[in-house]
Amino acid sequence: MTSSSLAEAVGIDVGATKIAAVRVTADGTVSARARCATPRRTADDLVGAITDLVAQVRGERVTAVGVGLPGMVDAHTGALAFAPGLDFARAPLRALIADAVGLPVVTDNDANAAAWAEYQLGAGRGHDHLVLVTLGTGLGCGVVVAGRLLRGSHGFASEASHLTVDPQGPLCECGNRGCWGVSASGATIARLGRQAAEARPTTLLARLIGQGSDAGEAVTEAARGGDGQALEILDRVGTLTGTGLAALANLFDPLVVIVGGGPVSAGELLLAPARASFTRQLYSPGDRPPVPVLTARFGGDAGAIGAALLAVEPAL
Ligand SMILES: [Zn+2]
Repeated sequence: MTSSSLAEAVGIDVGATKIAAVRVTADGTVSARARCATPRRTADDLVGAITDLVAQVRGERVTAVGVGLPGMVDAHTGALAFAPGLDFARAPLRALIADAVGLPVVTDNDANAAAWAEYQLGAGRGHDHLVLVTLGTGLGCGVVVAGRLLRGSHGFASEASHLTVDPQGPLCECGNRGCWGVSASGATIARLGRQAAEARPTTLLARLIGQGSDAGEAVTEAARGGDGQALEILDRVGTLTGTGLAALANLFDPLVVIVGGGPVSAGELLLAPARASFTRQLYSPGDRPPVPVLTARFGGDAGAIGAALLAVEPAL
């Protein structure tokens, strides 16, 4: 970060329900933050919301803006090609945002941005080959190969959310069964938690959900309290996560695999079955150096911080 060591950038993470903005120094320190609800209807509304957020966190030394988007981002034009559930697909967002804020803008997939943050400053620092998966409302994936983000021919690479991990699993919005994103994400844990609570309303898990706890967090809390159904849910999601991670490691031969997102707060209750399944399905694990499965350093800020870092020093 030599040439950009004095620069600051604004990083934006556009989520399905909220947009987070941070001002970040070159060492990844967050010096200001703001957020708002995601307007879901038009690109103009989205650009307006982002422009307001940039104005709120912008400082004198901000030289660029990076925007992480929850969908397929065209690496050549910076346009959003598709974002599930959002109506502004195909909008030329990079150009629209740059015009509105008057600064250079980069756009990228949100999980690519998160992977870049972990590679530059987080759990993957110093590892030029890594895979990051975030378990959230959906499932995001970013891959760093030889110190660069893997983008594919259009920018649409590493869509691991639609990798099949359970052929008999639930139907995905894409039309296939058992995609990783519907079989083993944060949303899966919440869905299975609610189903378990309905089926057996006297358990600790059912009580926590009945008291209004977030279903995903309730699963973790109940599992810590020894609730059998909650432990089973984390074991199942962890095991299928390991299946997906092994497929990625077999493809990309990373030095480390990083898992992020809210569910990693369950710690070993989720990660132990993930590691066991990962090692079981990794090709010839005894004949290669161990591939550590690590927890992401950056929590909910990873996408925004990574977008800011990409803005000051693009990953090519
Ligand atoms: Zn799918």
